[in-house]
Amino acid sequence: MNPNYIKEEIRQRVRMSDLVERLTGAKLIKGKMLCPFHLEKTPSFFVNDKKGVFYCQGCGTGGDIFKFVQLYKGTSFSGAVGFIDSLYGFGLSNTSPTYGQYVQAKMIADKRIEEEKKEARKRKEYDHIAQDYRICVRALLPGILEPFSELWCYYINQKAYLDYLIEEGGY
Ligand SMILES: [Zn+2]
Repeated sequence: MNPNYIKEEIRQRVRMSDLVERLTGAKLIKGKMLCPFHLEKTPSFFVNDKKGVFYCQGCGTGGDIFKFVQLYKGTSFSGAVGFIDSLYGFGLSNTSPTYGQYVQAKMIADKRIEEEKKEARKRKEYDHIAQDYRICVRALLPGILEPFSELWCYYINQKAYLDYLIEEGGY
């Protein structure tokens, strides 16, 4: 795929504020937060989602989503494209899995889930929590869904929720 096309496609799909929050783990308040590139006590780092840019009035750092990743991760431009691409699971660039690979991995995961359900039925096990838990653990086996951040996150969140239920309910 043409690199310019990939760049523009990614630019259209990714919200600057979402990317900044995901990477820094901080929350923007009214488009503003403490600058991740210099030390400060009052926020002077701004994000403009309409324009898809960030700018810090304190240290003068600014740019688009790719520039942000380049600076924050200390990577090249193409490194930033690949990073964002796989972070969101788009599968557009050569450095991240293709859509075909994504579909295949999802099929494998779905098949595993079906097998788990069949097994559970054989054991006449109707405890949904125990059943769902095993499904998540299976899906999280390394190498299957790992490269697909969205699916991977889905199962991690599911498992975390079940961990919580199991602990609370004394299962
Ligand atoms: Zn700054």
